[in-house]
Amino acid sequence: MNRDAGRFQYRDSEATTHLGEDENPPQGDQGASGDGWSTRAYKAIKPHTVDQARIARAVREILIAIGEDPDREGLRETPGRVARMYAELFSGLHEDPAIQLQKFFSESYDEIVLVRDITFCSMCEHHLLPFMGKAHIAYLPNGRVVGLSKLARVVDVVARRPQVQERMTETIADLLVTHLEAKGVAVVLEAIHTCMSIRGVKKPESICVTSAMRGVFRSNLSTRAEVLSLIFGNRGG
Ligand SMILES: [Zn+2]
Repeated sequence: MNRDAGRFQYRDSEATTHLGEDENPPQGDQGASGDGWSTRAYKAIKPHTVDQARIARAVREILIAIGEDPDREGLRETPGRVARMYAELFSGLHEDPAIQLQKFFSESYDEIVLVRDITFCSMCEHHLLPFMGKAHIAYLPNGRVVGLSKLARVVDVVARRPQVQERMTETIADLLVTHLEAKGVAVVLEAIHTCMSIRGVKKPESICVTSAMRGVFRSNLSTRAEVLSLIFGNRGG
C-alpha cells in the first residue's frame, strides 16, 4: 500500500450536532440524488435480520442474467454461499455500536488516547464492493475512558453495513462524542476502494483519506496538529 498517495486529501467533515445514539442517518450522500438511507428507512430495516434465502434467489438471478448456468456444478452452491457472506458483511446493520461504549471507566487521565491502525473492511454502498484500510481513533477524555478493544469493536460494527467512507468516519466520531462526552475526538480513515482499483478508473494505488474532528480537535489548531502528528508522525513511509 502506497501510504503517501492521497495523504493530503484532508476533508474535514462539518460538525454535526444532532446525531445521537445509533440513529446516525447518512449525511452528505455522495450523489446529489439523495439515494442514501433516510432515518425512517434505517429504522424500518433495523429490527430485521439478513434474509439469506432472498439473497440466494437474487444471486441465482444474477448468474442467469450474466449468461451463466446456475445449475452447473461449480455454481450450484454459490447463491447460498454468497448469502451467508452477505449476512456476515452486513451484520452491523442489526447491531448498535453504542453498546460497545456503555461500559466506561472513570479516570482523571486527560491526555490524548490514540488507537492507531485498526484494520477494517467495509462495503461501498454504490457498488457493493469492499473497501478496506485502517482507522485511527483519538480522543481527549473528559473523565471517561473505554477499553481499547471497544473502539475496534465500534469500527467493526459500523464497517459491516453498506457504507461510504465519509459517513463511516463521521458516525464513529459522533458515537464517541455522544457516549464518552470526550473533550475532543479525531477519527481518520485510510482505505483502498476496490471499486476504484478493479473497475472504472482502475487506480489500484489510490488511498482515500477522510477525517472527522470534533471538540478541541476541531477548534484548537495546536491540539489538532498534535493528534495528526501522533497519527501520521513517525511513519517510515
Ligand atoms: Zn464504490
